[in-house]
Amino acid sequence: MASKRSVAEEKRKFNPDWTQNYFFVEEDGEPLCLVCKSVLSVLKGYNLRRHYETKHSQEQSLSVSERSVRRQALEASQCSEQQLQTEKDSEKATNRASFLIAQKIASSGRPFTDGVSVKECSLIITKSVCPESYGKFSGVALSRRTVSRRIRGIAENLEEQLIEKSSCLEWWSIAMDESTDMVDTAQLLVFIRAVDSNMEIIEELMRARLNG
Ligand SMILES: [Zn+2]
Repeated sequence: MASKRSVAEEKRKFNPDWTQNYFFVEEDGEPLCLVCKSVLSVLKGYNLRRHYETKHSQEQSLSVSERSVRRQALEASQCSEQQLQTEKDSEKATNRASFLIAQKIASSGRPFTDGVSVKECSLIITKSVCPESYGKFSGVALSRRTVSRRIRGIAENLEEQLIEKSSCLEWWSIAMDESTDMVDTAQLLVFIRAVDSNMEIIEELMRARLNG
């Protein structure tokens, strides 16, 4: 007689027959319905059968051979969706890397064209250390125009965040300073120091303007 523990473990194991019988597959340890893409919380044959019988009654009239064809079509569709998701994740990662490097270039006051050098160097390293990832690294956009666009996007986003935060400020003060950029042009810097309704202190650069 099986112990309680082994029965519980057995219930958590995906039975490959459930794909043919109920059109379910296992994804990240959870049962996924290939028909409606629902994910059930419990990996038990009873729950999968109940879902199949109540939600997908139209699938139950299929003959054995029709069922196999239907299952293969659903699995192929799921496979291409996963492929698409992987490509989207990869695109997100390369975009994130591009933004982070643009931010680094901006915060260190370096020329936007440095992005091109960063990419050239990273491709040399990738080719030598992990050539299988060369394609991913080469997808990181770091041209001068892209870096410039990213920095503008980051600045706009920071301004939006500051405007949003300003609606719940309780007390604030403004400080001004003068600085010069890389080509010695004087800039007026305006800082805000404030406390919001949660007593959280913020200190941000509000604006930088060319003097004159
Ligand atoms: Zn379903």
